[in-house]
Amino acid sequence: MGSLGLRELGATGLKVSCLGFGASPLGNVFGNKVTEADAIASVNEAVRLGINFFDCSPYYGDTLAETMLGKCLKALPVPREQYVLSTKVGRYGAGFDFSADRVTASVDESMKRLNVDYIDIIQCHDIEFASLDQIIAETIPALQKLKEAGKVRFIGITGLPLKIYQYVLDRVPPGTVDVILSYCHYGLNDNSLLNSLPYLKSKGVGVISASPLSMGLLTPQGPPEWHPAPQELKDACAAAAAHCQSKGKDITKLALQYSLSNPDIATVLVGMCSVEQVRSNVQAALEVSNGLDSELLDEVESILQPVKNISWPMGRDEN
Ligand code: NAD
Repeated sequence: MGSLGLRELGATGLKVSCLGFGASPLGNVFGNKVTEADAIASVNEAVRLGINFFDCSPYYGDTLAETMLGKCLKALPVPREQYVLSTKVGRYGAGFDFSADRVTASVDESMKRLNVDYIDIIQCHDIEFASLDQIIAETIPALQKLKEAGKVRFIGITGLPLKIYQYVLDRVPPGTVDVILSYCHYGLNDNSLLNSLPYLKSKGVGVISASPLSMGLLTPQGPPEWHPAPQELKDACAAAAAHCQSKGKDITKLALQYSLSNPDIATVLVGMCSVEQVRSNVQAALEVSNGLDSELLDEVESILQPVKNISWPMGRDEN
């Protein structure tokens, strides 16, 4: 097996594996109950195969994913500085709270659950549900204090609507926000993040793209019950998955390779919770250099054409 490529994450100086480990499935958010043994084995295998970036949030499984990931990290046979850990503030099982007091306490709580004494990247989670002016004037300054205290190294913002990034980045001093995390906007059915990449690059911001499988839409097993996509999008993705299956091919591999093919995206975060998924996703990432299956890509793109870049509403009306 070759080795997984590392890419620069904006101006952070961090080098992250092009494939990142999304830990939300460890909070059982996709409906399947993940055992501690499976979680530990998955994270261990991920590191063994060259994945060095892990993303979590106190929101996933109402703190369960962080607790589970913490057990996995504790069991890892590598020193802390060999992996990059990201978690989030502001979104919780009980709702949203981006106040300075809450996010400050939240970082301490996350570090305890994750069994670490610093967090590499702390991100404001799904800011479209907040007042963006509060994020700028209160939340980010509170996180900067934690940066000065050495509890966090870099600051990020996440959310679904793409315009939230520019709103914030245009209003904070350069270097304040180090990374953005976009999800469901760089995959086979939706690549609208492309239009934002030149702006994000001009700001020196590292780009993390999550959910290349569109939170389960582009998998043979399909999405979880709570998936917010409109029915026409669900149906088209199911048709694309069935088409791949009929040809003995795997839509997850194509979807992942599509997302990994853009070098302006530092890392692609996939949710994983089994050793098999880790191995198959790493294998798919390693094979990107051989080129995509262009015939299958053409066929899938034509099935998805009628729903191209269709998303769903998320957050406050004003955002
Ligand atoms: P995803 O598109 O990565 O899909 C995950 C689903 O696909 C899970 O059900 C997983 O079990 C399944 N899967 C993974 N590999 C597979 C394979 N080889 N074959 C079949 N099924 C496979 O969606 P996601 O998990 O939501 O996103 C990835 C990560 O990105 C999350 O875990 C989270 O860390 C991050 N994320 C962050 C935000 C945010 O901050 N707002 C939003 C979405 C995702």
